Amino acid sequence: MDIKTLIREVPDFPKPGISFKDITTLLRDAKGFDYTIQCLAEKCADLSPDFIAGMESRGFIFGAALATKLGAGFVPVRKPGKLPAAVHAIEYELEYGRDRLEVHQDALYPPGSKVLMVDDLIATGGTAGATAELIQQAGGTLVGCAFVIELVDLKGREKLPSVPIISLVQYEGD
Ligand code: AMP
Repeated sequence: MDIKTLIREVPDFPKPGISFKDITTLLRDAKGFDYTIQCLAEKCADLSPDFIAGMESRGFIFGAALATKLGAGFVPVRKPGKLPAAVHAIEYELEYGRDRLEVHQDALYPPGSKVLMVDDLIATGGTAGATAELIQQAGGTLVGCAFVIELVDLKGREKLPSVPIISLVQYEGD
């Protein structure tokens, strides 16, 4: 099965010049979604994570499904003000302005737990780099990063620590 054929490319969304990779067409395909999670599970099983940390919001979809396959817990990394208990937070640069991500302070207990980060897509690596720092701040040990899609030319993986970085589908020239 070719996962790329299930991803819809929407030109000029959310603004001119961006080719948006729409994963809703993959998610609605029962066999395609299942196959995607199976591929991620095969490539990540050796990392034996205790937790999957998924970034809001598309990282929740792939991360939670992968967690059940790998027998790991799922930890949401959320936008500001969504988590109810005490949080660790990190601010990071966006193209315009700054953004902030939060995780519960007690989410990665016990300290040193092995954490696999999961998101739908890595572009510039700003979100993933910030999440890596947040995981460390929360006492977790990052053992890998997994993405369905990688926009290779944006070199996002260079913003990540030296752990295994897995992507299932790559785009060049975006
Ligand atoms: P970045 O921080 O630049 O690596 O951007 C990663 C986040 O932005 C991911 O959570 C993606 O869901 C989203 N994103 C960035 N670029 C695209 C794109 N071309 N198509 C779809 N989602 C994108």
